[in-house]
Order: sequence, then C-alpha cells, then structure tokens
Amino acid sequence: MKVALLDLRPQYQTIKSEIEPAVLSLMEGQQFVLGETVRRFEENIARYCQGGHAVGLSSGTDALLCGLMALGISREDEVIVPSFTFFGTAGVVARLGAKPVFVDIDTDTFNIAADRIEPAITERTRAIIPVHLFGQMAPMSEILSLAERYDLKVIEDACQSIGSGQNGQHPGQRSEAACLSFYPSKNLAGFGDGGLLLCRDKELAQQCRYLRVHGEDQRYYHSIIGGNFRLDALQALVLDIKLRHLEGWVAQRRAHAARYDELLAGVVQTPKISPGNVSVYNQYVIRAPQRDELQKYLAQKQVGTAIYYPVPLHLQKCFAYLGGREGDCPAAEQVSQEVLALPVYPELSDEQIEYVANGIREFYQ
Ligand SMILES: *Cc1c(COP(=O)(O)O)cnc(C)c1O
Repeated sequence: MKVALLDLRPQYQTIKSEIEPAVLSLMEGQQFVLGETVRRFEENIARYCQGGHAVGLSSGTDALLCGLMALGISREDEVIVPSFTFFGTAGVVARLGAKPVFVDIDTDTFNIAADRIEPAITERTRAIIPVHLFGQMAPMSEILSLAERYDLKVIEDACQSIGSGQNGQHPGQRSEAACLSFYPSKNLAGFGDGGLLLCRDKELAQQCRYLRVHGEDQRYYHSIIGGNFRLDALQALVLDIKLRHLEGWVAQRRAHAARYDELLAGVVQTPKISPGNVSVYNQYVIRAPQRDELQKYLAQKQVGTAIYYPVPLHLQKCFAYLGGREGDCPAAEQVSQEVLALPVYPELSDEQIEYVANGIREFYQ
C-alpha cells in the first residue's frame, strides 16, 4: 500500500465535470482580472464564513500583508506572533519594517499561549496575529480581551482554518480581520496561489480593495501605496465551485481524525482539541518520540508525512537580528522536535488510515 501525505487527484475526479465547463467558459470570455467572478466568490465565501466583508487577494501571505498595511502597521511598531507557525505570519511584519515579537505556544494545541502574551506587550505593540494552527482556533476570548485592554488590533491567521469554530464563533467574526489561504495544501485549495481577507468593517475592506490595485481609488490616481494583491478570476471560479463541497470534505477530515485518535490512543500524543473548539483538521499532527526515525520508518512503508515546523521562528537565521535565543520559547522548541503530520486528506480510505496507524504502532513495538 502507498499513502501520500496529500493527493489532490482523487478529489479533482469528483468535481471535474463542474470545473471543466466553467473554466472553458472563462477562457472563452477572456476576463481574467477581478470582475463578476471574483465578486461572486467573495459574496459566497463571506456567507460560508458567516459574516464580514471578503476581499480576494493573491495569497494568504498577501492577505496578511494587506491587512497589516490597511491597519497602518509600519516602522517602530511591534506585532505579537506565535513562534511556532508558518514563516509568512511573521515575514509580513518584518517586510513592513515593524518588529515581530515571538511568543511561546501551548504544547497541547500548538497555538499561541494566552498567558505569554501580556508580558510581551510594550508601548510599541500595535497588533496581535493569533494563528489558528492545523485547523483549531487560538484562544480568542483571552486574546481579544487583552487587545481591548491595551488598545491593540487583532488579525487572525486563519490560513489553515476556514470553517473552524470556537463556542459557535468563527474566524473573522470578532477581530479586525481574518486571513485565508487557498494554497493547494489548504482545506479550500485553488489551482495555485490565492488568498482572502475577511474584514469585520466595511471601511477596512474598502481600504484593502484599494491596496490590492496599487492604492488606486480611481484609475491611475493613487492616494495610498499598495501592491498587486489581486485574486485571479480563474482561481475565484475554481474556488467558488469547490466551496460548495467544503462542508463534506471537512466532515471526512474530521472522521479520519477521529479514527486516528482511536487507533493511536496510548501510542503517541494525538491532537488535543480545546473545549469549545471545532477543528477542521487541515493537518493531523502527532507528537512522537524519536520523530525522525519514525518518519524514516513510515517513508519505507510508503507513507508520506511532514514536519510542520522544524525551526521555531525566533531561531530562524533571517530573524537573528532580533536577538532570539534558544530557551526563549521552550514549548515551541520542544514541539518542533516532536511534531509529525500524517495524511488526513478527505479521500483517504479506512484501509489507508489503518495502514498508517499500524505502521506507527509497529515502530514503537
Ligand atoms: C499557508 C499559510 C500562510 C500563507 O499562505 P500562502 O497562501 O501560502 O501565502 C500563512 N500562515 C499560515 C499559518 C499558513 O498555513
């Protein structure tokens, strides 16, 4: 048997008959930039996410960047981010000349540790970017109450967590904005790169609409400096079709996760979901002793796995100028040695999941 970490081909087979005529018709029309296709997708995804004003953008990274630009984050500002996340979360802060301030995580959820945020707040802190890692939301109530107390903006990095929930609430409903990514490994996956910002206020969304076309409010008149951050109409078209299937795919991911939970109980630490949280399992990440050996063993059995993420951001070479040291974020450092993502994509069969779990059990016997 062979189990890839992610194989997008079986999913495509199930929606091919919807996608192909739509793409052909877009090609006949030759309208590739913004327009009705993007607008329709924005409306539908805002409805799916239960609120907010959606702005289609070129990637999840650009959604974060655009959101921070719209909030006026710049030089001298500090932005709090978890140390254990995808690079883009912090990279965008540094690109604006601001300082990413790395905060440690909770070893159960892999999300930012709420009690570590307050000590990191200084006079220069302007914003917090909580990341909803692997499909589960960060502790938003604690984060939002700190933000209110210290007058900070909150942008949620929900790139891995479209559709996730916390006590009945969803990314983008309570903060300034939430960023989504449609990179092919995400739950809602485009045919390449794409992203979106879900803004609570109409004004912030409008600002992002200007920013995505170089800050134009009227053709060739620029009142602010933006970039080319547009979502392609081709991506919007594909994503709009896939959005109709997302609920079903998420249900399959959740069923696979529940099966792994059963099969791996007592063998390795399976994902812990906080009370009140509903995970959409963009990744199913275990904490495994002798992780690297386990990964090799599974590779020999043709099981694909991945390490998200091997180096916490405070120890990345490009951030050495910030003076981060080993020991600054002990939890992030520890889990980066132990995490292993297992295949969890919707189209996996029961036999494949059992095969992966059996491989793990064998390794530890
Ligand atoms: C994927 C991802 C991003 C960036 O999204 P891109 O579309 O690849 O630019 C940012 N943050 C997190 C947590 C992600 O998983």
